[in-house]
Formats: sequence, structure tokens, C-alpha cells
Amino acid sequence: MGDFTLELNDDQKSVRDWIHGFAADVMRPAAAEWDEREETPWPVIQEAAKIGLYSLDFYAQQFFDPTGLGIPMAMEELFWGDAGIGLSIVGTGLAAVGVLANGTEEQIGTWVPQMYGDVNDVKVAAFCSSEPDAGSDVSAMRTRAVYDEAKDEWVLNGTKTWATNGGIAAVHVVVAVVDPELGSRGHASFIVPPNTPGLSQGQKFKKHGIRASHTAEVVLEDCRVPGECLLGGKEKLDDRLARARERAKTGLGVPPAEGRGSVKNAAMATFEASRPAVGAQAVGIARAAYEVALDYAKTRVQFGRPIIDNQGIAFQLADMRTQIDAARLLVWRASWMAAAGRPFTSAEGSMSKLYAGETAKTVTAQAMQILGGNGYTREYPVERMHRDAAIYTIFEGTSEIQRLVIARTLSGMPIR
Ligand SMILES: Cc1cc2nc3c(=O)[nH]c(=O)nc-3n(C[C@H](O)[C@H](O)[C@H](O)COP(=O)(O)OP(=O)(O)OC[C@H]3O[C@@H](n4cnc5c(N)ncnc54)[C@H](O)[C@@H]3O)c2cc1C
Repeated sequence: MGDFTLELNDDQKSVRDWIHGFAADVMRPAAAEWDEREETPWPVIQEAAKIGLYSLDFYAQQFFDPTGLGIPMAMEELFWGDAGIGLSIVGTGLAAVGVLANGTEEQIGTWVPQMYGDVNDVKVAAFCSSEPDAGSDVSAMRTRAVYDEAKDEWVLNGTKTWATNGGIAAVHVVVAVVDPELGSRGHASFIVPPNTPGLSQGQKFKKHGIRASHTAEVVLEDCRVPGECLLGGKEKLDDRLARARERAKTGLGVPPAEGRGSVKNAAMATFEASRPAVGAQAVGIARAAYEVALDYAKTRVQFGRPIIDNQGIAFQLADMRTQIDAARLLVWRASWMAAAGRPFTSAEGSMSKLYAGETAKTVTAQAMQILGGNGYTREYPVERMHRDAAIYTIFEGTSEIQRLVIARTLSGMPIR
């Protein structure tokens, strides 16, 4: 146990302080403007690119931090700065993870750099899985990918929804059905390269929060991509499908509930692994709102004394801080386990996302209450933070789905 520590090392501290500086000096002053504009903050992304904060190298370095804390630490600081802009900066990472998880080395080397572009011409990427009738229930997906052997091309048809950076991305990663008989085991992921005919942006959503992050439908109409755009390659897909069909025949093919059994679906495993990073974003928002509320409570005077002199306010702040620290510890535990190659035998990834997401929602609401009328206006940032926090119980698996995963994992029962 001699190696165990929750102390960040010197390198991690200096990276954290560097990101914090960018969050405080560049993101925060821009936050209200881009929230109102409801547009992707390209100039801020470019600023991040200039200092190397928006780059494949930076995320790769954090990803390979052996303690596992590089990514959660970076996420917390960025989202402490601003969640909408933060998501515009890290949204590309979700698509990059889709390629890293399923692609060959050649595909990773070709496509991931194109997702980020370069300092003078920054790009973003989109990961498109959700559909109008397939949100929590990924197995209901309908977007089809059909192989045209004569041309060695895949033809994609369907409508994706809720895609972060959908339609404005240089590279789209699209999950589609290649064998409808196999449920979620019959899915595969495809790269849609820049300017491919047949891919267009549908409706752009006007949202409650994270409004500086672009969210839209992506429509695929006879969208043809070269055979080499199938992530992992055709041989691997054919092998995987053959095994899944064999299991279906022998009765072992019923896909296990998420988090149960040893033959866990690869996409589900990827989601489990990315959840602590999303939890860390929620911790950043909660911490930001808590800090505003603490300062306000110490300076706002009513009945002749600062409002924090009332236990009713002070105890709320004590609970807020306790919950934020507890959320961070769950996030760090899951991140450490993932980096150490330990399986989430108790759905620790889902636990971290569930608790951090719920904490962000309640803490930002309490912060608004502590600021009274000011908390309810756009003169103070907690109103925006509360709107931003609300997505953390919805995307990357709703809180209900996280509870389902945890309950199934703990009980081994097919709870519905
Ligand atoms: C701003 C934003 C950005 C997003 N970005 C992306 C992206 O980049 N790429 C992408 O692919 N997707 C993205 N999503 C989609 C997101 O992951 C889905 O919205 C989410 O998975 C929920 O799906 P749904 O909206 O269809 O809700 P539904 O699945 O219809 O759920 C509706 C309600 O029913 C509950 N529910 C459903 N099933 C059960 C059950 N079995 N037990 C108990 N309760 C249940 C849910 O918890 C929820 O409360 C984004 C969404 C938003 C809003």
C-alpha cells in the first residue's frame, strides 16, 4: 500500500495550474457571450489550440498518465471555466475515443489528427450514435450500413440526433447497423471523411444549457464511404459477426445486460470507461458554483450580518463541498481503476457519473438559492451553471440508466 496517494505529482499540478489559468483568463470572460450567441466559440477553441490545449498530443498525454488522473483533472479545470465552451473544446475527444477504441493503427493515424485540424485551421469532430428512436436503448438503432462489394464502399442511410458538433465537424464517426438480426452486436462504426456527399446537418437544437456547444441532427442519405472507413476493418467485422451469429444459434447469443457477464459488448465497455471523464466535468461545474456561493454568502449582509452566519446557509455550503469532494473521489477511483486495467466489477464508472451528475444539479440549484434574486439573473454566473449542469443527468447515459447498470452489476439480475 506504500504507493497509494491522492496527492497530485508536480507535473500534474503544473498542468492543472496551466489549464486553470486558461479557464480563468480566457474561458470565463467569454462564457456569457457564447452562451447568449448559442454558437460554437471558434476563437476560443483557436486560443486553446495556440497554447496546445486543443490538440491530440495534449489529450494523449493526459490519457496515458499512469495514475489515471490526467483526464479528470483536465476536465474539472476546463468545466470550472465554462461548461458550454468546455464541451466545444473536448467534444472532439468523444469522436477520437470512438476511433481509438475500434480503429486500426493506420485509421487512428489518418483520422484523429484531421479531427483537430491545426492551429491556423482548427476543426472539430462528432460522434453520432443516438437516434430519434434509439437514445437509452441503443439496440433500437436503425441507421443502416450496407456493403457495396463491387465498389468496396459502405452506403449509410439514416438520421442521427443530438450529435455534439454534428454537421459542423470535419470528421463524423457514425455507428450503424450492419446486421439487424444481431441487435447491438450487429453494429459497427464508420468514419465519414470531410465533405462527403450524402451527409448533411438536420435541425440544430436550441438548448436549456451548454449553449456554446453545437448539438444537431445528422442526416445520412446514400452517404458512401470507402471500405477503409469501417473502423477495425472488414475482416475483423466478419469474424465478430460470425461469432455473434454462432452464439445466437447456440442460445449464448442473448446480449448480456450492460455490466453483466464476461462477454460485455465493446461499445458498452467504452461508455463505462468514458463515464468518469464526464463525471469530472460535472465536478468542475459544481465546484465553480459552490465557490461563487461561498464568496457571496461571506459578503452579502442581511439582518446586520453576513448570510453565512446563519447555520441554514453555512450548513448548505458544508454539504455542497462534502458532496463535491465525494464526487471527485468516486471519479478519481474509477479513473485510477481504468488506468490500472482493473475491471469495474461494481460499475464504478457508472457510480462516478451518476453521483457527480446529480451533485452538479443539486449544488448549482443550492448556489442559485444562496444568491437570492441575483442568483436568478444573468448578472451572476450560477444561473448559467445550473442550466449547464442539467445535462449531466441526461447525456452519456441518463441517471436512470446508470442506476440500472449499477443495480444489474451488483445483483447479476436482469433488472429492467
Ligand atoms: C446536449 C446533448 C448532447 C448530446 N451529445 C451526443 C453525442 O455527441 N452523440 C450521441 O450519440 N448522443 C448524444 N446525446 C444523446 C444522449 O446521449 C441521449 O439524449 C441520452 O442517451 C438519452 O436518450 P434520449 O434523449 O433518447 O432519452 P430516452 O432514452 O428516451 O429516455 C427518456 C427518459 O426515460 C428514462 N428511461 C429510459 N429507459 C429507461 C429504463 N430502462 N429504466 C428507467 N428509466 C428509463 C431515461 O432515463 C429518461 O429519463 C446528446 C444529448 C444531448 C441532450
